[in-house]
Amino acid sequence: MGTGNCIFCAIIERKIPAKIIYEDEKVTAFWDARPVSPVHVLIVPRNHIATLNDIPMNDPILSDMGHAARIVAQKLGVADSGYRFSINVNRGGGQVVFHLHAHLTAGRDLGTFLITGAIVLATTWRKLVSRLRGTR
Ligand code: AMP
Ligand code: ZN
Repeated sequence: MGTGNCIFCAIIERKIPAKIIYEDEKVTAFWDARPVSPVHVLIVPRNHIATLNDIPMNDPILSDMGHAARIVAQKLGVADSGYRFSINVNRGGGQVVFHLHAHLTAGRDLGTFLITGAIVLATTWRKLVSRLRGTR
């Protein structure tokens, strides 16, 4: 997909609206339209690069994206408490938009919520089973 029909290029060029939170020479950052956690910002290179596999050798764009993430995290007050910086690569990696982007997420996301829920459930179940066994 080229720049002509790319949704993130359209956001960068201000052709479609987005809540842009940070921008510099190399990178634009905006709020994800369907957030999975209280903080969910996308960090995207202003040049169209489809996937992480397509970054030219010696291109410092990932470093630029990391730098932007740090600034956004500081802005949103999660730099010290912590956040995730993740990149989905191609369909099998969960990539849906083919313009390279990193997800900056913080707060309780759905994955963490489900994992925590599963652990609590398993622990409760084990306690219940051992209590029933104890009273036999
Ligand atoms: P990925 O699955 O890594 O390709 O993530 C694509 C992300 O882009 C998803 O989290 C979408 O919610 C988000 N997204 C898609 N379209 C827009 C848009 N127009 N503005 C903001 N975020 C978007
Ligand atoms: Zn693009």
